[in-house]
Amino acid sequence: MYAVRDEITATLQEIRDAGLWKAERQLTSPQNAHITTTQAEAINFCANNYLGLADHPDVVAAASDALQEWGFGMASVRFICGTQTLHAELEARIAEFVGCEAAILYSSCFDANGGVFEVLFGEGDAIVSDELNHASLIDGIRLTKAGRYRYKNADLADLRAQLEATKAAGARRTVIVTDGVFSMDGSYAPLDQICDLADEFGAMVLVDDSHAIGFVGAGGRGTPELFGVLDRVDLVTGTLGKALGGASGGYVAGPQEVVDLLRQRSRPYLFSNAVAPMVAAGSLKALEIATASDEGRATLQRNTALFRQLMTEAGFDLLPGTHPITAVMFPGEDGARRAGQIADAMLEEGVYVIAFSFPVVPRGKARIRVQLSAAHSEEDVRACAAAFVSARERVG
Ligand SMILES: *Cc1c(COP(=O)(O)O)cnc(C)c1O
Repeated sequence: MYAVRDEITATLQEIRDAGLWKAERQLTSPQNAHITTTQAEAINFCANNYLGLADHPDVVAAASDALQEWGFGMASVRFICGTQTLHAELEARIAEFVGCEAAILYSSCFDANGGVFEVLFGEGDAIVSDELNHASLIDGIRLTKAGRYRYKNADLADLRAQLEATKAAGARRTVIVTDGVFSMDGSYAPLDQICDLADEFGAMVLVDDSHAIGFVGAGGRGTPELFGVLDRVDLVTGTLGKALGGASGGYVAGPQEVVDLLRQRSRPYLFSNAVAPMVAAGSLKALEIATASDEGRATLQRNTALFRQLMTEAGFDLLPGTHPITAVMFPGEDGARRAGQIADAMLEEGVYVIAFSFPVVPRGKARIRVQLSAAHSEEDVRACAAAFVSARERVG
């Protein structure tokens, strides 16, 4: 063991030396637009709390009531004695919201993505995956014996080339797999054109809509809604851990037979505990709020547009778009250092944003990622842009 500990210590040092160490800030408050940590008070621009539901009083109340009514935990997987009517109701509501026949709940979207591919795709099948897809999609795909094809991010010409390769290989089932929104860029997968290609090649389409569900599209039904392809996407996965309350849970939605088969065969579903009742109830309330009114989405859009406008006027280099993930770019050799220093300087002024550099994003494309929320006030948004300006002056 001593030798192993020394080796691990060396690995830890390598991570630190490479500047890749991830330190955790401990919050001493709930998740919200304004947070306190053990070190500072800050306006928070790095949570996935897009609709501000993580600490919404109605969501908290629904979860709290459920805790009293349904107990703390299930102490069982779903198929033994871990399914309450709450779970079935949540699955039905998710399916309805994303426009699918059925949905199946997992402990997380990481598990949903880890459990969906192996059941549906095997030897002789082909999985065609965007190069920027989330780690959980990559891992889930790795668990299959299907042929793996990778295409350049949102690149339709390369997607076509890969689909042609699957055809040449005589693939049985083919599926195109993409994030709806790419989380480092805030860009969308061009789902309308991806569905066109899928039709042309007889392929299915699976979209992981974790960074969209609840707030992208006029009704918040996600990237397929935004691109007008709700009825053309075959399978959708997503998380309850971002806009929809932000607690935990993920899902796969699709045709009834697919969901039925996943319940029989999907390993993270079969061999992992049921989602806690209070989380199911809080998520149901979050879904209800997101469905009942466009108010949260309107506020989020307003905040996003204002922030992008203020930053553009101040001469910052933004990746274009409309998603609340706003990438403020610091290109070039010196970019990683500048982005890090500016983020640090902003935290001193009470604005919490995160800098990303290689290997999380390509070399020379360092950025600060700002995530807007409906929980932010106009004043919060203006404070963020102002902090960027003054940090830039200080850092030079
Ligand atoms: C956040 C995220 C996940 C993981 O969701 P969890 O429910 O937190 O496991 C999966 N896919 C994408 C695209 C994500 O952004």
